[in-house]
Amino acid sequence: MRVLEKGKLVVASHNAGKLREIADLIGPFGFDTQSAGGLGLPEPDETGTTFEENAYIKAFAAASATGLPALSDDSGLVVDALNGEPGVYTANWAEREDGSRDFNMAMTKVLDRLEEAGATQPEQRKGRFVSVICLCWPDGHAEYYRGEAQGRIVTPRGNDGFGFDPLFLPDGHEKTFGEMTAEQKHGWKPGDSAALSHRARAFQLFANAKLDMSGVN
Ligand code: IMP
Repeated sequence: MRVLEKGKLVVASHNAGKLREIADLIGPFGFDTQSAGGLGLPEPDETGTTFEENAYIKAFAAASATGLPALSDDSGLVVDALNGEPGVYTANWAEREDGSRDFNMAMTKVLDRLEEAGATQPEQRKGRFVSVICLCWPDGHAEYYRGEAQGRIVTPRGNDGFGFDPLFLPDGHEKTFGEMTAEQKHGWKPGDSAALSHRARAFQLFANAKLDMSGVN
């Protein structure tokens, strides 16, 4: 495992919701972060068939273009009754013909597909959010951290968060991710033993492996 020196780090994402969450999570560690979008880097095509492959495509594109280490997140919603769909194609389900994204449309699609599959009861609507964080250097060396949050698909509630947050009720909670503050959704800060969201869980593994927690809170 390679040491990650504190300094410049590119966050290889163009997704505002993810960037906000990653900025929250990495903020206390004192890196000089810049986003791929902020650096004017193009968004690479996500041609992989796994979260790991797509996370690598994004992180390597940013690392090789800048000569700096880069951190990416590839994530998605995996619904049991839909045989794991939308999975790695979660972002595509929100895509309109003109290329814009519409998450109300995408959430309606998930709910319609559950109805079609006959999954009408809460226990038939299990699923999970997955996040794979990839840390990659310009020479292509990459490390991966995977986090998952189990829960259920419900009628969308709440306007906080982003993407599919309103339709996801994490197990053991009464609020959807869309009804939670960012702090509640992460459920983690440096030093905590547990995290809630898929991204915070992946980040926690990354932080435990790579970051100096001393003096951070
Ligand atoms: P990708 O990682 O760029 O392939 O996009 C993943 C898609 O999954 C995003 O566009 C979001 O719609 C969705 N997604 C990933 N993480 C979250 C989350 O924390 N909340 C809500 N939606 C998410």
